[in-house]
Amino acid sequence: MTALTGDGSDGWDVFYKARALKKQGHPIIELTIGEHDIRTHMDILAAMGRSARGGHTGYAAVPGTEGLRAAVARRIEAQSGVRTTEDNILITPGGQSALFAAHMAVLNPGDVALYCDPYYATYPGTLRGTGAVDRAIPCDPAHDFQPRATYLEAAAKGARSLLVNSPNNPTGVVYDRATWQAIAKTCITHDLWLISDEVYDTQVWQGKHISPRSLPDMQERTLVIGSMSKSHAMTGSRIGWICGPVPVIEYLTNFATHTTYGVPGFIQDAAEFALSQGQELEDEVAAPFRRRRRIALDLLTQQNLVRAVPCSGAMYLMLDMRATGLSGEAFAHALLDAHQIAVMPGESFGQAAAGHIRVAMTVADDQFSEALAVLLSFAAE
Ligand code: PLP
Repeated sequence: MTALTGDGSDGWDVFYKARALKKQGHPIIELTIGEHDIRTHMDILAAMGRSARGGHTGYAAVPGTEGLRAAVARRIEAQSGVRTTEDNILITPGGQSALFAAHMAVLNPGDVALYCDPYYATYPGTLRGTGAVDRAIPCDPAHDFQPRATYLEAAAKGARSLLVNSPNNPTGVVYDRATWQAIAKTCITHDLWLISDEVYDTQVWQGKHISPRSLPDMQERTLVIGSMSKSHAMTGSRIGWICGPVPVIEYLTNFATHTTYGVPGFIQDAAEFALSQGQELEDEVAAPFRRRRRIALDLLTQQNLVRAVPCSGAMYLMLDMRATGLSGEAFAHALLDAHQIAVMPGESFGQAAAGHIRVAMTVADDQFSEALAVLLSFAAE
């Protein structure tokens, strides 16, 4: 069996410890994973129920229902300005399976697949699962974890694909235009496929979300990964997509036929309904994170020990704890033991974020504010 990640030996022990303590009844404040503290909107659930009761409970079309594919295509076209039709879209059970399928489409066993460190925790395992060789590109904290042209160039020789993520989990960074230009240049020079994970596209607090599919000469070599987990608080519904060139989507439809065999029709109908509500609903779902980021920035300005990586997007705050003299892991363990507050060590997301912690802004405002204040005064002890 190929060794993946997430088997308990990968720096997630603070998370497992917090979960075990919670199960034993300890009042742990979990600022760990990217799960909303709000539920899926009642209107979306009502649409799901209507569809199921109306009989949409059999096999659904494998690439996705026409209605949902068209709705996703319209959303992408409106956002990126790139002409997009339903033929460019495959609906998948969540963004995670889209990540795996997209790489299966462009990689052969033994190919080198690039990704940026720090990374979303499943990335190395997803790449290895395809039979590829995963190669990390270090992103420097001194440059706010934006991938730099020199590192991209150094890693790209002989590679086949590059996986990037903006707005970024775990850093909260939104890639700027210069970063995207460097990424596009590397992909074109080295003939790489670009897999652009855009599951946080509705969570941009500063700057602008740029989809690299809109950059010159990138449309035919980019596969965009999307999901409604974060944008619509629908993590459990498992709705995601891949947007890319028609021949790749045709290949992936066949791939889906042999793997997932599609996504439940009543969930797709609910997703289509959710997208029909437009940006208003997306803004409503994003609003708590926007507020908590503000709360965090205000608290952070009241001290000068802990530096925050500019939190321009996503539901996470990446804090540089190196001034405490502790690793991210040691700090996270100590905080959990002393104050029952659980955060993720930067080391859980690769080497580049060592000495950092990731704080998910996923509890109510007052609890978040209190927990962050405790964290900051604990750091200063
Ligand atoms: N990509 C990133 C960067 C994520 O943070 C996540 C989930 O946290 C995913 C993909 C997977 O999302 P989904 O719930 O749609 O599978």
